[in-house]
Amino acid sequence: MYDYLIVGAGLYGAVTARSLADAGKKCLVIDKRPHIAGNVYTEETEGIQVHRYGAHIFHTNSRQVWDYVQRFAEFNRFTNSPVANYNGELYSLPFNMYTFNKMWGVVTPDEAAAKIEEQRRAAGITEPTNLEEQAISLVGTDIYEKLIKGYTQKQWGRPCDKLPAFIIKRLPVRLTFDNNYFNALYQGIPVGGYTKMVGNMLDGIETRLNEDYLADRAAWDKLVERVIYTGPIDAFFGNSLGNLEYRSLRFETEVLDIPNFQGNAAVNYTDAQTPWTRIIEHKWFEFGKDAQGNDLSKTVITREYPSEWKPGDEPYYPVNDEKNGKLYEQYRKLADSEPKVTFGGRLGEYRYYDMDQVILSALEKAEELL
Ligand code: UDP
Repeated sequence: MYDYLIVGAGLYGAVTARSLADAGKKCLVIDKRPHIAGNVYTEETEGIQVHRYGAHIFHTNSRQVWDYVQRFAEFNRFTNSPVANYNGELYSLPFNMYTFNKMWGVVTPDEAAAKIEEQRRAAGITEPTNLEEQAISLVGTDIYEKLIKGYTQKQWGRPCDKLPAFIIKRLPVRLTFDNNYFNALYQGIPVGGYTKMVGNMLDGIETRLNEDYLADRAAWDKLVERVIYTGPIDAFFGNSLGNLEYRSLRFETEVLDIPNFQGNAAVNYTDAQTPWTRIIEHKWFEFGKDAQGNDLSKTVITREYPSEWKPGDEPYYPVNDEKNGKLYEQYRKLADSEPKVTFGGRLGEYRYYDMDQVILSALEKAEELL
């Protein structure tokens, strides 16, 4: 009845479905949630687009991906510049001259570089083998202690010396006065929200919500030639080789009767005691909703609490350490021997993908299938 069944209406599913449908294939998209857009889902509250499953800031170096998303949304010029709050002391992120000046009083790039080098040497690190050593060798012990250690341990629920170094390399370190969190050439947020953008991707493609593929796999498989599966790879195989570990998140969202809570979209709480990692104030992702413009007297904020994933929770982040890497490889082998199924996306490939990487990988996979 269909050429393709796409399991999951998130970015990976929507992009593959779009490419396949544009090539004349008959597609059916299903999702077990009551809405499309997966974890990039946004919904309007008090006139503000709320990022229901955590903040998503679109950024990419790929001209191809940037041109592609323009087909489905207009992007604003939002630039992510989170602020770190360490027990009431505020620091600029990512790590740049404003951060170094506040931390050490250094004024020039040379002074900052010398300070980092001095702390790196004192710690005796030559070849970093884990996140802690990587962080200290990039920014020194003071910044590690105040801005990285507590946040990372809350975020991942594991000590920094047990985490892979690549996670901290996501953050730029700059000897310039530049608070832009990303190095990407292109950056912004879709005007009107991500749900609208994903809806445009799925335009004209049959989409059924509240449908759980794994609950009745045989029946779904009968309908289609091929399945694109974007859920957790271990769940697909009934967790037969054991559970892959994920980090989950709990969100506490509040509408406040004030126009401005924290003056920025994201504030990271980098001490170990505060139970949340960050507070998002959603209106600052958009424009024309500022206090001066007196457009909105209210604001919506979300506190983000990380937790270890357990059955029934939403998986958000794969834990890409050695142990899980090995288990994933075993699942990957099982996946490779599934003749009818393609696995993709953050959960299907167990990879800490950003949105642009998901899109690129989905475009390439669709091309390959076609
Ligand atoms: N990180 C940190 N302090 C911060 C922000 C990030 O130590 O204030 C570390 C932390 O280990 C985190 C990693 O950098 O997991 C990557 O951060 P990013 O903002 O890319 O994470 P995401 O937004 O994907 O949760």
